[in-house]
Amino acid sequence: MIVCESIDALRRERKLRTGTFGFVPTMGYLHEGHLELVRRANAENDHVVVSIFVNPTQFGPNEDFNAYPRDLERDLAMLSAFPDVVVFTPSVQEMYPQGFQTYVNVEAVSQGLEGARRPGHFRGVATVVAKLFNIVQPQRAYFGQKDAQQLAVIRQMVRDLAFPIEIVGVPTVRASDGLALSSRNSYLTPEERAAAPVLYRALCAAQARYESGERDAETLRETMRAVLAAEPLAHVDYVSVADAETLCECEGAISGAVLLSMAVRIGRARLIDNITLGING
Ligand code: AMP
Repeated sequence: MIVCESIDALRRERKLRTGTFGFVPTMGYLHEGHLELVRRANAENDHVVVSIFVNPTQFGPNEDFNAYPRDLERDLAMLSAFPDVVVFTPSVQEMYPQGFQTYVNVEAVSQGLEGARRPGHFRGVATVVAKLFNIVQPQRAYFGQKDAQQLAVIRQMVRDLAFPIEIVGVPTVRASDGLALSSRNSYLTPEERAAAPVLYRALCAAQARYESGERDAETLRETMRAVLAAEPLAHVDYVSVADAETLCECEGAISGAVLLSMAVRIGRARLIDNITLGING
């Protein structure tokens, strides 16, 4: 395993290797979800680059940038299971030097859901991912479906700006009780952790209604809200049934692929989760 802290060092390592590169951008504090992305990248490419960078531009002023969990030593120990991986760990100064002033704005698909509640979030995500793509120059890049809107934003950016990169979406890795793995789960107390699977239970309840024939968008949202309301520690930010491609909120009868998603506060954690329905018609 090789660790590069600077753009120059990463580029030097990149040049020493021939063959395909798979890239996994992360904010560190790694868990099995991240490792699943690394495994996929490792299986499908000659080389793998993993970046660990808590990106300040994707956090709002009242969000958890400073509190976001960090443990580089532990992350590197987890990645040492992949002997050939190159780990890129730039500083904020390296990525955003004095005078930085160029940003990437992906418009419509950034606007609803997380984008509506976290102004500027996807501008920060698209900017850092575009810069990382230019530094790493991978053939493939791996993103979790857990962050479904992020995946949609990156796909749109790659299409619009003609990055020669295949974007691979990887299914959400969950704990045995259904909770989607997330670095932010570390904010949960034991009692809150026990309450947190309510997000996935709410998604599954709506999926069950859908599978028994329900197609009304508001009824599916109501099904999710009812499950969440039964958990006193869960404070709903939003619950959504949206078109899986445009991410526009559905009204009336749904058809085609739809994204069921939600953001819920439990204690000091703001948790998000989603599932897609109707992929096969
Ligand atoms: P993060 O470090 O939270 O920015 O996540 C880095 C990448 O890992 C993103 O593409 C996430 O969507 C993905 N990821 C995070 N959690 C999971 C999970 N539970 N299952 C699959 N991918 C995930």
